[in-house]
Amino acid sequence: MLLPSEWLGKPYYSLDAYLKKEFGEKVYKLSLDGGMTCPNRDGTCGTRGCIFCSAGGSGDFAGDRRLSITEQLQAQKAMIRNKRPVRKYIAYFQAYTNTYAPVEYLEQIFTEAIADPEVVVLSIATRPDCLKSDVLELLERLNQQKPVWVELGLQTIHESTASYIRRGYPFSCFETALEELHRREISVIVHTILGLPFETEEMVLETMRCLNRYPISGIKLQLLHVLKHTDLAKDYLDRKFQVLSRDAYLSLVMRCLAQLRPDLVIHRLTGDGPKDLLIAPLWSQAKRSVLNDLHHRLKEEQIWQGKDYSDNP
Ligand code: SF4
Repeated sequence: MLLPSEWLGKPYYSLDAYLKKEFGEKVYKLSLDGGMTCPNRDGTCGTRGCIFCSAGGSGDFAGDRRLSITEQLQAQKAMIRNKRPVRKYIAYFQAYTNTYAPVEYLEQIFTEAIADPEVVVLSIATRPDCLKSDVLELLERLNQQKPVWVELGLQTIHESTASYIRRGYPFSCFETALEELHRREISVIVHTILGLPFETEEMVLETMRCLNRYPISGIKLQLLHVLKHTDLAKDYLDRKFQVLSRDAYLSLVMRCLAQLRPDLVIHRLTGDGPKDLLIAPLWSQAKRSVLNDLHHRLKEEQIWQGKDYSDNP
């Protein structure tokens, strides 16, 4: 198999390769906290949040919300520049639900982020039930200035799992949001979680095959992390489910990659939960070695992204 040259030698289309193709050099992500909360926590659609979500609203690596957006950008750039010379960045609004605020406020913080000449992409993590028409119009306008990515936390297509994890919206809501974003030519990246309780391998593969049929441009395959002080941790400690072993996870990722459309950019293949909060799986802390093993096994077993896609277009 001759891999596409833009994949830069990897058996899948990594975010790194995509960014090098689009921007001609390495681009780094700066994780920001826009000071918002989440309708799944404030009582609008739930009070306890998604079952796996930490108190930091899945933004444990994001900047300090007491700082302005410009200050957060400067602080994070300084940390990266200490290690390597970098000139281009993605402003990533990561913590909580980043379109859950009045549109005037959103316009102010997003405009502040893209005003930075070194920011080349505005990326916004949010929920599909938090994209009202005025917000969509704002994103469409901003997308004319710099590329806007919307990252939707879907996690799974299966309603039974969605109910267990307390996602708080049905799959049809995701479909509607996707249609609206696609109509406005805004790129969508979908977050999925591998290893969710009670999901079989086939259910995970169904999520991958289903997403292939939608106009998305990228996907994150996040390993399920059990974090302290979450309801998921209680169920885990009560032995209601087990986390994936390292080997099971690697096999599952490989099968997912083989099924995914070859044009989908792979934004993440694992993830390392915050060290002070992570209960399991502890093997995930050695992220570099997990990824090295994955690359080795993909090569050895001759698996590449989209290898089995033609069987299920
Ligand atoms: S939608 Fe996001 S921020 Fe809100 S509870 Fe779920 S994971 Fe946490």
